[in-house]
Amino acid sequence: MNIREKPPHEAPRRIQVSPKDNVAIVVNALGLPAGTEFPDGLVLNQFVPQGHKMALADVAEGAPIIRYGEVIGYAIGNIKRGDWINENNVRMAAPPPLEALEMATRPPPPGEALTGYTFEGYRNADGTVGTKNILAISTSVQCVAGTMEYALKRIKAELLPKYPNVDDVVVLAHAYGCGVAINAPQAVVPIRTLQSLARNPNFGGEVLVVGLGCEKLVPERLTEGGGDTMRMQDHEGFGANIAVIMERVEARLKVLNQRKRETVPASELVVGMQCGGSDAFSGLTANPALGYCADLLVRAGATVMFSEVTEVRDAVHLLTPRAATPEVAEALVAQMRWYDEYLEQGGVDRGANTTPGNKKGGLSNIIEKSLGSVAKSGTSAINGVLKPGEKVKTRGLIFAATPASDFVCGTLQLASGMNLHVFTTGRGTPYGLAAVPVIKVSTRSELAKRWADLIDLDAGPIATGEKTIEDVGWELFHLMLDVASGRKQVWADKWGLANDLTLFNPAPVT
Ligand code: CA
Repeated sequence: MNIREKPPHEAPRRIQVSPKDNVAIVVNALGLPAGTEFPDGLVLNQFVPQGHKMALADVAEGAPIIRYGEVIGYAIGNIKRGDWINENNVRMAAPPPLEALEMATRPPPPGEALTGYTFEGYRNADGTVGTKNILAISTSVQCVAGTMEYALKRIKAELLPKYPNVDDVVVLAHAYGCGVAINAPQAVVPIRTLQSLARNPNFGGEVLVVGLGCEKLVPERLTEGGGDTMRMQDHEGFGANIAVIMERVEARLKVLNQRKRETVPASELVVGMQCGGSDAFSGLTANPALGYCADLLVRAGATVMFSEVTEVRDAVHLLTPRAATPEVAEALVAQMRWYDEYLEQGGVDRGANTTPGNKKGGLSNIIEKSLGSVAKSGTSAINGVLKPGEKVKTRGLIFAATPASDFVCGTLQLASGMNLHVFTTGRGTPYGLAAVPVIKVSTRSELAKRWADLIDLDAGPIATGEKTIEDVGWELFHLMLDVASGRKQVWADKWGLANDLTLFNPAPVT
């Protein structure tokens, strides 16, 4: 699809983010051929694909390459004005040292309160609000997964139709529970995640745990805040086990069927933000629009989580000054340090994050990706930091420490209590979650057009100047309220697309 020789009919377009930048990226969908001349006289020396960088000035060997006003790397060889810059001529810079950061030096003052926005949600006894009405069956060990798959088919066929106010029944299946070092210090992460997951606001406080009976993770560890457990080994035969599961499930469906949506303020939203399949437009369109929307949510009193440690690490110097207190800044740095060590034990660094698709989309390295990724966080003060799988307790903008892996991040944000997920993508993914609606936002209009039945909102018009970041931010804000209310269905829910829950287990497997 790229036009390598014939000039395109449309005018060449490029975007430079900061006046300090010595690169700009190509907006034109088909890329731009060698010889393309811009109105300021810049001539491309090679074909440059869409989303990729061109040098705006000569850059001498070893000199900094600057995008977003930040150094994303150093030139390999002498780069000429008009050259294509990609991972082959950029040497990655070191990450910002964690010892020399500005800690809570410039927390932004609170924005003007945004009042009067509401959605229709399910109020829970613990004060949280759900956006769906789902029965979740927890499992304490993978051994029962096959049984639960069988049970779920029968539940959906025989029980769920009798309780029309219940949207769905899901099994919280996972590979943890046995064959693991349950007392290892880091085992706290998967165990806390499972405890918190069972109490996601969309599950209405009805906790049922199905276990085997001899596993290390005893089912009662998942019902410390209340709930019911059963063990397969306590019952005679498979048929009897299924009968017990069906009976316990039906009792809960009866309770959940009584839930009704009621009007609640927008402050009850707990939004988890992440990106996946990022490209060079992520930091120009979808993520800044999501960041603007995050600021609106914070002004409305809601909770907004950003995550993905490896995509925050290289931009942490831009975040610690925004911490509301020195304690929040310290907690943020502690999560970065923990992850640096975790990666080091595996013999890699944060550079292991980037994918072939990211590079094809124009991202030369993890620094460039991170600077675009943190645009999701908007401009509000960072009000809190969560360890992986911890439940959110404070409102405002929260950093929830998670790996950047889409499935692991989504699972941990669910555990932290999100009731709505926003996912930005440049390359495209059919990602979805069974437990909460996932709003997918594309960075480019080409993707939104190709995948019109998967992408919920197109942030691409920001790149072409047809819409502003503010326009798309407000559109997203209104879409969130509609989706949270059940008035609009996201594409992933229309198709029934849901990725597996994926636990983060940094502890040893035995
Ligand atoms: Ca991700």
